[in-house]
Amino acid sequence: MSHTEEHKVIADRLSRISESETIAMAKLGRALKAEGKDIISLSFGEPDFFTPNHIKQAAIDAINTNQTFYTPVAGILEIREAIKVKFKRDNNLDYNIDQIVVSTGAKNSIMNAVLALVNNGDEVLIPKPFWVSYADMVHLANGTCVYIDADVDSDYKITPVQLEAAITPKTKLFMFSSPNNPSGSVYSHDELKAFADIFERYPNIYIISDEIYEHINFVGKHTSIATFGSLINRTITVNGVSKAFAMTGWRIGYIGTTKEIAFACDKLQSQFTSGTNSIAQHAAIAAILGDLTPTSDMVKAFHKRRDLCLSILKEIKGLKLNNPDGAFYLFPDVSSFFGKSYNGKTIHNSQDLCMYFLNEVYVVTVAGSAFGNDNCIRFSYATSEENLTIAMNRIKKALEQLQ
Ligand code: PMP
Ligand code: GLU
Repeated sequence: MSHTEEHKVIADRLSRISESETIAMAKLGRALKAEGKDIISLSFGEPDFFTPNHIKQAAIDAINTNQTFYTPVAGILEIREAIKVKFKRDNNLDYNIDQIVVSTGAKNSIMNAVLALVNNGDEVLIPKPFWVSYADMVHLANGTCVYIDADVDSDYKITPVQLEAAITPKTKLFMFSSPNNPSGSVYSHDELKAFADIFERYPNIYIISDEIYEHINFVGKHTSIATFGSLINRTITVNGVSKAFAMTGWRIGYIGTTKEIAFACDKLQSQFTSGTNSIAQHAAIAAILGDLTPTSDMVKAFHKRRDLCLSILKEIKGLKLNNPDGAFYLFPDVSSFFGKSYNGKTIHNSQDLCMYFLNEVYVVTVAGSAFGNDNCIRFSYATSEENLTIAMNRIKKALEQLQ
C-alpha cells in the first residue's frame, strides 16, 4: 500500500457516488448569472411560486408560540395525524400514526428506506429514466442497481413483461416515481395494477413508490400502488410538500409503510438528523390539511407552460417528444443531433449538448445521462411563460444551427 493510500482522507463510499447533477447544474447556472450572463435556468426541479400565505402564517404562529424544541424523531403527533388523514383522503391508504415517519425532505425519506432495506449485493430494480438520486442512494447502501430500459417510444414507461424479466432471487426492492421525474410520464391505474399482479407472485420484493408529484397530474386521479392486493404490507409510499405546495426549502418529506419499516427508519433517523425542523412541521400541517386551491392554481399554470413549451419544441425537426402527463419536466430524445457540429465543436452525447446550450444560448438544462438515458435532455418548465418562450426559442435556434 502506498503512503498516499494509507492516508486517504475521504472514505471509499464517496467514490461510489457523484454530486447530484441537478444540483451541480443549478449551481453552475447561479454562478454564471452572478457574473451577469443572461442565463435562463431550466435545470432545477422546483416550483417558482411562493409558498401560500396560510402555510407561512402557520410557521409564524409556530415561532410565536415557541414550537422551537426538538420533536419526536418521526415527527410531532399532529403532523402524523394530518398525514394519516391525507393518505386516506387522497390515496385510500390506511396508515396508522406508527406507520408514518416525517423526514428532512422526501430525499431523506427515500435514503432512510433504502438504507433500512438494502443489504450488500441486494438487487434494486429501477426503471430508466429515473430520478437522479436513486442510483447513488443504492450505491451508498452497497446494493446493486438493475435497470429496466424505457425510451420515448413507450412514453418512457416499462411493461409488466420487462419488469418480471428483471426479477431474480436477489431482488429486494423496486423503486420508481409516478408522475415521473425526469420524463413526466404517469402510470395509469391499470398499468400499476399489472405491476401489482406480478409483485403478488414475489412476496419478498419491497416497493418504494415515490409520489412526490402526485398533485401535478394533468390527466386525472393519482393511483398509489399500495392500494392493490397485499402491497400495503411491503410498500413504502413516499410523499412530501416540496412540489405540491411550493415548499422546497422547508424540507418536509414523509413515508407511510409497515410498522417494522417505519420503526427502522425512525431508528436510523434518530442517529442521523433527529426529528426534522419543528417550525416546518407546523407549516406542513397547514399545507396538508388546508385549502388545495393554491395547489390547483399552480397545476393549471404548469399545464399551460407544458403546452407552451411543447408547441415550440414540436417545430424542431429531429427532436422526439413524449406527451408528459405530470410533474414539470420535458425529456426530449435529442440523439438525432449527435455527430453534428457548430463552430468546429462536435456534439457526441447529452453532456455535450447540455454544455452547448449553456455556452451558446445561456440555457441551463440537465443531461439525460444523469437520469440513466444519454439520448435525452431534461428541461424543467417550473419558470415563467416569458422565460420559457425565450428559452425554447433559444434551444430551437441552437439545435437548428447544428450541422
Ligand atoms: N423524488 C423525486 C422524484 C424528486 O424529483 C424530488 C425532488 N428533489 C424528490 C424526491 C425529493 O424532494 P424533497 O427532498 O424536496 O422533498
Ligand atoms: N427534484 C429536483 C430535481 O430533480 C431537485 C434537485 C434535487 O433534489 O436533486 O431537479
